[in-house]
Amino acid sequence: MTIRPRKHFGQHWLKSEIVLEQIVDAARIEKNDRILEIGPGTGILTKRLLECSEGVTAVEIDRDLCERLARSLGKKSNFLLLQGDFLTLDLEQCLEKFPAFRPLNKVVANIPYNITSPILEKLLGSIVQPQRTTYESIVLLIQKEVAGRLCAIPSTKAYGALSIRIQYLAAVEWICDVSSRAFSPPPEVDSAVVRLTPRTYPKPLPNPKKLNTLIDLGFASRRKMLRNNLKSQVDPEKLSQILEQLNINPLSRAEDLSLDQWIDLCHQITE
Ligand code: SAH
Repeated sequence: MTIRPRKHFGQHWLKSEIVLEQIVDAARIEKNDRILEIGPGTGILTKRLLECSEGVTAVEIDRDLCERLARSLGKKSNFLLLQGDFLTLDLEQCLEKFPAFRPLNKVVANIPYNITSPILEKLLGSIVQPQRTTYESIVLLIQKEVAGRLCAIPSTKAYGALSIRIQYLAAVEWICDVSSRAFSPPPEVDSAVVRLTPRTYPKPLPNPKKLNTLIDLGFASRRKMLRNNLKSQVDPEKLSQILEQLNINPLSRAEDLSLDQWIDLCHQITE
């Protein structure tokens, strides 16, 4: 039976076996893994994950799909299905009653593209409040353009505030491109698989809010030099001196600074 996809839930069913294998390979699943899947949909990925892991906890918002999943996969003892909105669900609390599924150590999902940023924030936290996570890796199928921004390196068009925010919290790797033909119905945009490895950043920040503000202001007008964009935070002459001390061209724009350079700058401005 085919199930009619609901646009507002970002439903596009993956149909390519090749992409499925690429996702599963990227997650490097081991027998004792306890996996979180967001948006199992009709269960194509779920089924594969259940075959090779200790447990799969899947969170699906659509009640009709949940009923269908319960019928098709409900008998499997290593499957836990939670009906609800992943963004508001208290996962820790839900799992209290199911110790066999804890702790979750990997995330593998083909997520709804319209809520990619909030999903990332829920999984990783933010610069100001990094999430204490048990996830060793997070493999996601997302919109290609967003994947490009997550992986971007300095001085490229895709490199921006999102790149820095996410790269501060996790190492990001591009796994593969995915054509819109791999889905039914095909989304209007191309897709890609990425792997995020959460990190405890080695250099704790003296003032995480400051880094957030600097990045926001720095990228507010991309074409302007940092010394102009950061005027409200630091005197332009002083900033030029700081940049020189850090071996950074004082005429740099926000997009020219690497994550480590942003962190160094934040240290200098806060001191
Ligand atoms: N993983 C499936 C479906 C991907 S489509 C596949 O690869 O075929 C995205 C899925 O996320 C849909 O099943 C949709 O109902 C679900 N979804 C959308 N918003 C959600 C939310 N806030 N919380 C949990 N699931 C959600």
